[in-house]
Amino acid sequence: MKVTQKKCKSILSSSGIYGVDYSINPYTGCQHNCKYCYATYMKKFTDHTEPWGEFVEVKQNAPQRLQKDLHKKKSGNKILFSSVTDPYQPLEEEYEITKRLLEKLENTFFEINILTKGDVIERDLSLLEEFEDGISVGFTINFSSERDRKIWEPNASQIEDRIRILKELNKRDINSYIHIGPYLEGITDLDKIKQRTEHLVDEIQIENLNLRNQEKILDTIKKHYPDLEEKYRDILEDDGRYRHKLKTKTKKLASQIDEDTQISLFLD
Ligand code: SF4
Repeated sequence: MKVTQKKCKSILSSSGIYGVDYSINPYTGCQHNCKYCYATYMKKFTDHTEPWGEFVEVKQNAPQRLQKDLHKKKSGNKILFSSVTDPYQPLEEEYEITKRLLEKLENTFFEINILTKGDVIERDLSLLEEFEDGISVGFTINFSSERDRKIWEPNASQIEDRIRILKELNKRDINSYIHIGPYLEGITDLDKIKQRTEHLVDEIQIENLNLRNQEKILDTIKKHYPDLEEKYRDILEDDGRYRHKLKTKTKKLASQIDEDTQISLFLD
C-alpha cells in the first residue's frame, strides 16, 4: 500500500447524491479495495500508477481547509462522509483526518451522515454522541458470510465487528442505518441481513449494482462464483430484470419489517 500526504485545495464538495448537499472525502484512494467499487475513476485525478485499492493520499491540511470552505458554502447543510473513499479505513487510526474534520463540525448547524465499512469509527463514538440528532452513522453490510465479505471487501472490517458497533450506536442512541449496496443477486441475503440488524437501526437502505466497474465484478464472479457467471453476464449487459426483481424483493422486505425501521431503495 503506497501512502502519501498531500495538500488539498478544497475539502467540501457540492454533491448531486440524493439527500446530500456536500461530500467530504478525507482521503483519495481507499485501502478497503472492494471489488465492486464504483469510485475507481478517481485514480485519473492522481499521478498514481498503482491500481485502485493500493494507494491512498492523505489530505493532511483538510481540517484547516474545511474552516475556510465553510465560509464559502452556498446553501444546504447535509454533509456526507464520504462519497469516493472510506472515512474510517484503517489508516484513519494513525492520521485522524476524519476525526479532526468532525471536531470542526461539532456545534455547527450541519447534519452529518457517515457511511463506512471500517471499525476504526469505534474510537470516535464519544465524539459522535456529541452531535446528538445532527448525525447519522451507516454501515455498509452486503454479506452475511465472512467468506463473501473477504472476497468482495478484502481489507474492510468483519461483519461481526460492524454489527457490534451498530449495537453500541444503538445503546448510545446515535441515529444509525445499514446500507446494503450493491445488492449482489445470488450472493446478498437480504433476509439474513435484515434479521441481524433491523432491531438496531433506524433505516435499511438498499442500492443496485453500479455497472461502472464491470470487469472487476465479472472477474470476481468467474473466480469465486462460477455458477453465477452467466447470470452476471446477463445483468451487466442489461440490468432491467435485475432491477425489477430488486424492487419486488425490497417491497416484500418492507412488508415484513419492524414498523419503526424505514426501508429505502436507491436505484441510480
Ligand atoms: S469502501 Fe467504498 S470507496 Fe472504499 S473501496 Fe470500498 S466501495 Fe470503494
